[in-house]
Amino acid sequence: YTVIFLEELQKINSGGFAAAMWAHAYLAMTHVNKEGNHRIKEKYLRASISGDKIGCLCITEPFGGSDVAGMRTTAIKKGSSYVINGSKTFITNGVSSDYLVVAAKTKPELGNKGISIFIIDRETEGVSATKLDKLGWRASDTGEIAFDNVKIPEENLMGEEDKGFSYIMQHFALERLIMGVNAHARTEYAIEYVIKYMGEREAFGKTIDKFQALRHTIADIVSELEMCKEFNYSVARKLNEGQYAVKEASMSKLLSTKIADEAIYKCLQLLGGYGYMEDYPLARLFRDSRLGPIGGGTSEILKEIIAKIVIDKKDYKPAT
Ligand SMILES: Cc1cc2nc3c(=O)[nH]c(=O)nc-3n(C[C@H](O)[C@H](O)[C@H](O)COP(=O)(O)OP(=O)(O)OC[C@H]3O[C@@H](n4cnc5c(N)ncnc54)[C@H](O)[C@@H]3O)c2cc1C
Repeated sequence: YTVIFLEELQKINSGGFAAAMWAHAYLAMTHVNKEGNHRIKEKYLRASISGDKIGCLCITEPFGGSDVAGMRTTAIKKGSSYVINGSKTFITNGVSSDYLVVAAKTKPELGNKGISIFIIDRETEGVSATKLDKLGWRASDTGEIAFDNVKIPEENLMGEEDKGFSYIMQHFALERLIMGVNAHARTEYAIEYVIKYMGEREAFGKTIDKFQALRHTIADIVSELEMCKEFNYSVARKLNEGQYAVKEASMSKLLSTKIADEAIYKCLQLLGGYGYMEDYPLARLFRDSRLGPIGGGTSEILKEIIAKIVIDKKDYKPAT
């Protein structure tokens, strides 16, 4: 159902709206579902499912996103509370969400072994957010968030203290597959639109879908698209069966987002000047698609992960 939901969302041709939906359902809610205790699930998960509460996941910081272990936000225990200080950036639903799932260092001296995950109500004193202006995904609110002596009860710790890094890495597999599926779905949207357009647009006395050069472009894109789609479905099946498919999920995002960017660039070209006009869907798709190789782990980081697995034989293990 997740794959169907994601594919249908891409047909709206608003990467931003889709992101607002899936960041809530699969980034924030995944942590609440997997690490939240009964009380947290009753309060936040129920309301998240009904749509009464919207969540966001706060990992990236202004000082760096790829180096998750290098985060500087701290959560220091004081009596029965934690006090959170620091900042996060590029957070989807960062301004409009009702609660924030936040990664912070409980033991800064331990690096990635001292990170924990907390759930924080938007209204908590000391939480502030600013909306960022972006190239694409403009229908999604992307926020920079500051935590200034934010005091939360110790019950808002999710999962075990200091295990946050493993939780984050574990759930990245799903996020990366999601971004892979989004990429193949938006490529499919682009190609369907462009084939229809080519059948209607005429040049030199015939519809442009008769020009061999353009037909071959379509054939190339559709071949790559089908390969991605089938692969992504197979990764979805693996995750669904409970397999920890880090390598495959990384490959899914790496290649699907690359192919989507290239395909959408070419599809825009096939519309000629209309491709450049905001009245036609390719302009927005082109801008929205560019986030694919950046968000949720850049292509460079994904290549690092894949190389570690295939060359160094690194064995990634799930946290639970
Ligand atoms: C619209 C949008 C929405 C987002 N939503 C969220 C969200 O909801 N929650 C969240 O936590 N984050 C979110 N992000 C953040 C996103 O995950 C990060 O931007 C991304 O992980 C990269 O981090 P960075 O921007 O700090 O880049 P950096 O880490 O500063 O990287 C800069 C460049 O250096 C490269 N690089 C870094 N390290 C290496 C290395 N070891 N080897 C080779 N190259 C390297 C990177 O690939 C990149 O090209 C979002 C970002 C955007 C733009």
